[in-house]
Amino acid sequence: MAAAPHVVILTSSGAGHVLPVSELTKRLTLHHGFTVTIVTYASLSSPGHSSPLASLPPSVSVAVLPEVSLSGLPADAHVMTRILTVINRALPQLRDLLRSLLDLPAGITAFITDMLCPAALAVGKEMGVPGYIFYTSSLMSLLSLLYTPELSRTTTCECRDLPEPVMLPGCVPLHGADLVEPVQNRSDPVYELMIDLGLNYLLAEGFIVNTMDALEHQTLVAFKELSDKGVYPPAYAVGPFTRRRCPDSDEVKHSCLRWLDNQPDGSVLYVSFGSGGTLSTAQTAELAAGLEASGQRFLWVAHHPNDKDSSAAYLGTATTDADPLSYLPDGFIKRMNRTGLLVPLWAPQVEILNHVAVGGFVSHGGWNSTLESMAAGVPMLAWPLYAEQRMNAVMLSSNRVGLALWERPPLGKDRAVVPREEVAALVRKLMEGEKGAATRKKAGHLRDEAEIASAPGGPQDRALAVVAGMVSLHRKSHGE
Ligand code: UDP
Repeated sequence: MAAAPHVVILTSSGAGHVLPVSELTKRLTLHHGFTVTIVTYASLSSPGHSSPLASLPPSVSVAVLPEVSLSGLPADAHVMTRILTVINRALPQLRDLLRSLLDLPAGITAFITDMLCPAALAVGKEMGVPGYIFYTSSLMSLLSLLYTPELSRTTTCECRDLPEPVMLPGCVPLHGADLVEPVQNRSDPVYELMIDLGLNYLLAEGFIVNTMDALEHQTLVAFKELSDKGVYPPAYAVGPFTRRRCPDSDEVKHSCLRWLDNQPDGSVLYVSFGSGGTLSTAQTAELAAGLEASGQRFLWVAHHPNDKDSSAAYLGTATTDADPLSYLPDGFIKRMNRTGLLVPLWAPQVEILNHVAVGGFVSHGGWNSTLESMAAGVPMLAWPLYAEQRMNAVMLSSNRVGLALWERPPLGKDRAVVPREEVAALVRKLMEGEKGAATRKKAGHLRDEAEIASAPGGPQDRALAVVAGMVSLHRKSHGE
């Protein structure tokens, strides 16, 4: 009998990448009999990084690429510059690792890299190993990154000054300012790195995308037309990968869940900006005051503020010994004693969103948070901060999807502080207003669609079976 297909999956850092990679891995091993080696970067470890990898099936091995030096990069280099530089500088170590795995009897049937590591596909290609991208965000954002090299070639202005809307195939129209945040400044070195990212995607045999038809139907149709014409490799909608429980849940129920048990159904607003989202000091104070003024119950996962970088928590650069709650306005926690709960740094998000007391989610709109909110049927108030979150907000608040409320801030004023009155009004709109009710209804509908998509034998299983079948074919064609 032929040995099980062996897949190597390379993941960058951050919960938003490592968690879906571990979900993909579980499915490939448990449902398709694969063996998997997950490869991570020592230089990119971040909060929430290790726990999901600690609880994987025995047919999964984990290899860590050694630390690489970031010498030459300025201390304030963009977070994406740091990540992509680590990925580029670690290619020699990755090459050695892949060679050593190829020498083992199982060989490597396919090489899957997460959405930030397509540069690594070239290394697999040198060795004749077919490569795929596991894309852990919306298909629309993938299209935008594939389009970046062309946009850069055909225009000279900054994206935000583009005179016409950007019309990506099958997508809602975007302002240039809605495109991913690292392409917003041509003079930042991250800009060229993002162009390379877009070009390197074309090395893939296909894109395994954590999305589903009910969210991105038109985009999937348009993408298929393009890939049928050979413009792009094909995309497989294998989502939504959402967890039932958080990997760090243990036998002891988190105290915030016990607090939720005592709140009325649908009354609590959950506030969290993901693993990396970071507010400024002034915005933290305004958010606190706005929540207080809204009169709504809330559960807020608070991070240390940072006045320069809205993704400061992502690689743990914001970490200090100070208590993150110490940055909140004087007396706030005491005054909110009965109606609000503050949790420092990390909370069991999936359990929170699925708790009956939760009725809304103020979110940065990270893709995993979006899918988790949708799967729990909880409407969102989008508060995009960095990366592709603004593009997600445009899509989520469009009539097509309707999972989130979002109002486009005036162009050029994105970093301005949202004042407390506006925070309170938006929160009330979501929790009590007519628009909030419509969004809640839509969220319930999408939850049903997500359940259908992820039912045994449903579209998600079928899409993953296609991917698994393709990967197995590589094994046969390599004569294993
Ligand atoms: N997460 C969590 N608790 C937290 C913050 C985040 O469990 O306090 C999880 C969340 O459930 C999601 C992931 O971390 O699965 C964050 O991914 P997302 O794509 O939403 O945002 P990112 O952190 O990558 O910006």
